[in-house]
Amino acid sequence: MDLHSLTIHQLHDLLVKKEVTSREVTEALYRRIGEVDGRIKAYLLLTQEEAFRQADEVDRKIIRGEKIGDLSGIPIGLKDILCTKGIRTTCGSKILDNYVPFYDGTVVRKLKEKEAVFLGKLNMDEFAMGSSTENSGFFTTRNPWGLDRIPGGSSGGSAAAVAADECIAALGTDTGGSIRQPASCCGVVGLKPTYGRVSRYGLVAFASSLDQIGPITKDVEDCAILLRGISGYDPRDSTSIDMEVPDYRRFLAGNVKGVRIGIPDEYFIAGMDPDVEGLVKEAIDLFRGMGAEVQTISLAHTPYAVAVYYVICTAEASSNLARYDGVKYGFRSNRYHDLLEMYARTRAEGFGKEVKRRIILGTYVLSAGYYDAYYRKASQVRTLMRSDFEEAFKKVDVIATPTAPTPAFRIGEKVEDPLQMYLSDILTIPVNLAGLPAISVPCGFNRQGLPIGLQIMGKHFDEGKILRVAHAFEQNTDFHLKKPNIT
Ligand code: GLN
Repeated sequence: MDLHSLTIHQLHDLLVKKEVTSREVTEALYRRIGEVDGRIKAYLLLTQEEAFRQADEVDRKIIRGEKIGDLSGIPIGLKDILCTKGIRTTCGSKILDNYVPFYDGTVVRKLKEKEAVFLGKLNMDEFAMGSSTENSGFFTTRNPWGLDRIPGGSSGGSAAAVAADECIAALGTDTGGSIRQPASCCGVVGLKPTYGRVSRYGLVAFASSLDQIGPITKDVEDCAILLRGISGYDPRDSTSIDMEVPDYRRFLAGNVKGVRIGIPDEYFIAGMDPDVEGLVKEAIDLFRGMGAEVQTISLAHTPYAVAVYYVICTAEASSNLARYDGVKYGFRSNRYHDLLEMYARTRAEGFGKEVKRRIILGTYVLSAGYYDAYYRKASQVRTLMRSDFEEAFKKVDVIATPTAPTPAFRIGEKVEDPLQMYLSDILTIPVNLAGLPAISVPCGFNRQGLPIGLQIMGKHFDEGKILRVAHAFEQNTDFHLKKPNIT
């Protein structure tokens, strides 16, 4: 098997047995990137020099006979929303085109300490606003399963890179579905952790009450390994929770006998692609066959999710993005006469269309006279949605649904219709509003050969359970082993 197509756990075994060096694997990955990234366009920046330095260090350790960890020497890609010390971090935006952070985000620091190798920075929708990477300030990433299709978003570069074997695994971020929806579109595994499980320090903020960093991987075991690598309390993020981080691989041994799986009626919406519905129902039948107890549940406030999300996330974004004023970071317009004009022109020229739309919307919903009608109301409905989940989790252990209502759509198909674009997130947003963990795993291919994702949601901090259920599913299927034919 080619080195670039291996998983984290397979590579770790080969490194330990000295059958391969981290440098060889890193070289193989850059070769692969050289071969396919001209077509996929997942990477914004490659960091070869630093990567080989990291790889060589691990190789020396192995030669010395020292023990290595399960992420040592493993080549990983980072979504370009994560601050990397001394390495350009654009967040997919022209306004941060020349921004070089002077510190590492906590997840980056953690993975460095665990000796992972960073290959480069991956494309995304500008400021993580989007579901297709078409909002990137630089270019659109293509889906390895069909180059005329979107890879999903906003972590589209991360998911496409994993699917195209341009990295062994990647990190993405998920505010309203941006890990799970691209994972679903690209036929890979993506997990959004519980809010507070992973530190957000050094993650460029979009909507701070929703943002979480998580793994995008080739299989569930890798997801468990990488999740453990980035989780844990961080005094630099006041919303991170001080709770022990388990070895998530411990959960993968179990089966699903007696596990209570809830199926919410509200998630099988009108207009859903029939292949998505069919494949997810087959997955549910498979669980039943494996001894799980499947029952229908209700999450009654689901129909309000998109509306609530687009009030809350735009409100938070309008505040978070106020800092890009041409003074503190990145780009500054050179066409101005006074300070106010400098601010205005910098923002007008530096931000893309979608980001401006969200800032304007967010400013509106927070303004005097509208705050109660929009922001407060949305926060109240958010609480109701959270209670729906609390009630449901009294009866079931996990909840299974489709990840996205359709497979990857065509590039250009929804750019002129923001509402259609927003609807791609209808099934992933509720989890963010409630702060819950959820995973997307491949559950089949539609008639055109495009991958479809199954979403499994769990209780707060019950990542172990959703990994267990996802792993059991994976053990009984082979969808995760299929590779796209990149032509
Ligand atoms: N697509 C959603 C949005 O545009 C979700 C983005 C995300 O999770 N970062 O806001």
